[in-house]
Amino acid sequence: MATKVKRAVKERRTKRKPCNFCIDRAIAVSYRDVPRLKKYVSERGKIVPRRISGNCAKHQRMLTTAVKRARLIAFLPFVSE
Ligand SMILES: [Zn+2]
Repeated sequence: MATKVKRAVKERRTKRKPCNFCIDRAIAVSYRDVPRLKKYVSERGKIVPRRISGNCAKHQRMLTTAVKRARLIAFLPFVSE
């Protein structure tokens, strides 16, 4: 029964959202690009997971390092209430 439910969910979500950074190759993921990074950070300051942001593995990795760097130099908060 459990497998049946899982399969139904999978079929519904076959089309993947294309990665925003792959579409526009001019955009480089940078820790200084705070307004763009903020789009990939939740209200509480957490990095949005790939399955929600729709980024590819490569760009998601670049994004996480960028966000972490931005946090260290206080461009982004670690936790925001
Ligand atoms: Zn990408």
